[in-house]
Amino acid sequence: MERGVKSFDMQHRIKASIFFIVIWLGLSTGAAGRSTDADLLSIYMDNHSSAEQTDIHFSFNKNVTFRYFLLDNPQRLVVDLDDTHLGMNLKDISLLDAPFSKVRHGYPKPHVLRIVFDLQRSVFIRSQKTQNNQVILHVTTTKPGKLQPLIIAATPMRNIIVLIDPGHGGKDPGATGPHGTREKDVVLEISKQLYHLLEREKGMNPEMTRDKNYYVTLRERLKKARSTKADVFVAIHADAFKHAHASGASVYALSLKGASSEAARWLAEKENYSELGGVSLNGKNDLLRSVLIDLSQTATISASLNLGDEVLHQIGRVSRLHHHGVEQAPFMVLKSPDIPSILVETGFLSNPQEEKRLKDPIYQRKIAEAILSGLREYFYQNPPPGTWLASHVESLGEHKVAKGDSLSSIAHYYHIGTDALKKENHLKSHNIRVGQVLKIPKKG
Ligand SMILES: [Zn+2]
Repeated sequence: MERGVKSFDMQHRIKASIFFIVIWLGLSTGAAGRSTDADLLSIYMDNHSSAEQTDIHFSFNKNVTFRYFLLDNPQRLVVDLDDTHLGMNLKDISLLDAPFSKVRHGYPKPHVLRIVFDLQRSVFIRSQKTQNNQVILHVTTTKPGKLQPLIIAATPMRNIIVLIDPGHGGKDPGATGPHGTREKDVVLEISKQLYHLLEREKGMNPEMTRDKNYYVTLRERLKKARSTKADVFVAIHADAFKHAHASGASVYALSLKGASSEAARWLAEKENYSELGGVSLNGKNDLLRSVLIDLSQTATISASLNLGDEVLHQIGRVSRLHHHGVEQAPFMVLKSPDIPSILVETGFLSNPQEEKRLKDPIYQRKIAEAILSGLREYFYQNPPPGTWLASHVESLGEHKVAKGDSLSSIAHYYHIGTDALKKENHLKSHNIRVGQVLKIPKKG
């Protein structure tokens, strides 16, 4: 199926049409530089007007040690560069569209060059040191809750790929409710809702094993997980039981028991597994391959259980639960050895009340939202390396309090508890003031 326009592609286009202002002045002569000092050769700014972000690029003729901080009254961004000499004219920097009113410099200590940017409003800063003696400061003016993804130059960050697997389809209707509702139809609707929510979710891209009413074999579903390079596999089903009163949602992960024999079966299809979680299986003998697959599967099951916990917890907020823990079963569709996989039973179609609810688009959306929240909770704590989310989570070191912020809004934004935030900053009450810099504790 066609993917919609992804936020990452959008950023790319923004990046491509960046308005570059390059300031470049030759080395000044006769100033008080030491021959061992680095020269600040140029500063240029990328203005991402639609992302309310400016990247300040500093170029030097050698590597420098630097620090930056924000000061109040008036608000300003201060960058200190050790053993550095100003080798350019700051007056030539164009501040058009940037959140600065003026740029100046000084030497607070011998051989420490200080560049001061007078700010027109509160900003959030993140720094990045690149190769080629460059330093980039990402400056964004957006308030928490709407913080835009920060773009790291040179290394595009990939999005997490969520493969949604609506159960059954085509000749396989799955369960049927007392009023004729078919599982294959309701789970497709819930899956589509989840797909649309994920299309709008920063840092995540959805894929589906089927987007219409057709039959897909279990093997094809697993293959799709590999071909889409999915980070996570979410199968969506609805239950049925001989007793009409059975009710509630459940979440399943693979049981270890079913895993080993399946690993052996996978082994028969070697072309599927030339590589596992980045480890090449080529040239390994069958026994070693089997051990590697088992090890990977064990780690994957543990990740699946954690993910399942988060999803179950979120579903518990909108639905009755059939069972209050993640259950384990040797479902074939959960057997990707290196992709965390869960199966969500969204409710019992055999229960007339639940059948009615499962058909209701509003309830379907609630379930989809709960699954999304669970994915978010899990991936904020376990971001795959190289993803936008990983870089975003790592950047959450400090937060400068802006107008309208409250302790709880900040805690909510960073997906941490208010108490953890209070404790980290030794706060006795909920009172915070604009401009105060809070430490953001690591989750976990
Ligand atoms: Zn099913």
